[in-house]
Amino acid sequence: MTAPVAPPLLQIENVHKRFGRNEVLRGITAAVAEGEVVAILGPSGSGKSTLLRCINHLERIDAGRILFEGQPVGYRERNGRLVEAPEREIARVRARIGMVFQRFNLFPHLTALGNVMEAPVHVLGLPREEARARAVAVLERVGLGAKLDAYPAQLSGGQQQRVAIARALAMQPRLMLFDEATSALDPELVGEVLAVMRDLAAAGMTMIAVTHEMAFAAEAANRVIFMDEGVIQEESTPDRFFASPATERARQFLRRVT
Ligand code: ADP
Ligand code: MG
Repeated sequence: MTAPVAPPLLQIENVHKRFGRNEVLRGITAAVAEGEVVAILGPSGSGKSTLLRCINHLERIDAGRILFEGQPVGYRERNGRLVEAPEREIARVRARIGMVFQRFNLFPHLTALGNVMEAPVHVLGLPREEARARAVAVLERVGLGAKLDAYPAQLSGGQQQRVAIARALAMQPRLMLFDEATSALDPELVGEVLAVMRDLAAAGMTMIAVTHEMAFAAEAANRVIFMDEGVIQEESTPDRFFASPATERARQFLRRVT
């Protein structure tokens, strides 16, 4: 007998999402295994951010299913029907999925350390000393061990984004979602954030990164998903995708961005 195969960490099954009459996700199916790094590429408006937001139920889906650790995200089955899960249950899933946005959204009145300690103390209920030790460790990991007491306004954009990554890591997530984490940064600050993302990928963190950084996708990702108009047009290895994209849409996209 063979050992049972663990289900993928994340399964996205035929997900549809519309805003009013605008159907922005039109049947998305994908799976992400533990330890995989998936880059999502595609033109603006193709539904990339919406897909990430559906994964941790910041948006409700209209059809299909999303399973995280084998459990439906945001919904539970009752009498054979799916009903929205209680807020508590949704919060539990969100605590296991870290998200880093284009804008860092740090609390301006808290230091780097305070920002990173916030959720471990208030969401996980860790004692302050334990949360502090954890926060120091993740801030050191993103290269900010010397900036523990700095306020966001005293940090560069790249440093602020690294605090945002540390804040997500402090929750010890099983999955990290990055939505154009470097797009709001001055060009000279992009590298330090990508370096942290590369380190995380190399350390085995499961990651889904929406990105316009083609070099990052080519080097750090195991897999590329190319979206356009709410559909996965192409799913491929980075080598294959960048050397010989299968679709004309992807060829056009790559001509524009590279
Ligand atoms: P991408 O991240 O690929 O640029 P988005 O997921 O942000 O794409 O947007 C996909 C489409 O959904 C766009 O047409 C956008 O205008 C629309 N959209 C996104 N969020 C909302 C919202 N909250 N309300 C209405 N329309 C939205
Ligand atoms: Mg977006």
